[in-house]
Amino acid sequence: MYKELENKVAVVTGGSKGIGTAIAQRFGKEKMNVVVNYNSDKEGAEKAVKAIEEAGGKAVSVQADVSSEEGIQRLLDTALENFGTLDIWVNNAGMENQHPTHELSLEDWERVLKVNLTGVFIGTKAALNYFTENDKKGNIINMSSVHEQIPWPTFAHYAASKGGVKLFTETVAMEYAPKGIRINSIGPGAIRTPINAAKFDDPEQKELLESMIPLGRVGEPKEIAAAAAWLASDESSYVTGITLFADGGMTLYPSFQGGKG
Ligand code: NAD
Repeated sequence: MYKELENKVAVVTGGSKGIGTAIAQRFGKEKMNVVVNYNSDKEGAEKAVKAIEEAGGKAVSVQADVSSEEGIQRLLDTALENFGTLDIWVNNAGMENQHPTHELSLEDWERVLKVNLTGVFIGTKAALNYFTENDKKGNIINMSSVHEQIPWPTFAHYAASKGGVKLFTETVAMEYAPKGIRINSIGPGAIRTPINAAKFDDPEQKELLESMIPLGRVGEPKEIAAAAAWLASDESSYVTGITLFADGGMTLYPSFQGGKG
């Protein structure tokens, strides 16, 4: 737990399930005030709100599509109206689907880029506007992926979106460092969430996946939430523009394990 996070105000996008819910719950344990965003799963967001309140924080859920400026403005307005300020903005919402690239429709390409990359831009812009106008040393955390670094055949749009998040994060970090605003990404490996539940339900796929992870197991959402809490805290005060990989070693070229190659 990080004492300085108590009463801080955070927006978490895509908070109705998976990693977003885990971050919201962890922020609740830190006794923070949290705006939990959902797109369609109101019930999931309400559960996250309840968990935050039970843990000692305060929370409110808000519907918004992160790819719309109007939706993002609603999230910021809710934070200001309910909690009076904004300290931390977490761009977590994301989506993926699988298609060979020659069959990938322009519609699928644009939707994934719009949520995973444009959504990060719009959220970051709203937070930066508030931080700069109010002379606030705010903190932004983007959910990237190991696929900002590892190519992923049949997920070209997803990999392109996360590669974009990487350089966007680095650029904004440099641009706003003089104002004391920090922005970092988290690069999860394979985490047990609804986004890839089908893979984990198939024993063969699960075993194959585990063989690509030096620590030998998939990660839990709370292990990503722990990285988010650290990046939000003052313990990471000298860290900006990085991707913190929390991936069980997936980015370490595991096919070379045991001296192969
Ligand atoms: P998930 O599918 O469980 O949750 C994604 C969340 O994003 C959901 O709450 C969903 O409603 C929300 N969302 C999607 N589109 C939205 C939109 N337009 N507006 C608002 N919310 C929207 O997935 P997850 O595994 O929890 O993923 C969270 C983030 O972590 C994503 O950015 C994902 O790319 C990234 N990630 C996940 C893994 C993993 O293994 N689970 C690995 C690497 C990166």
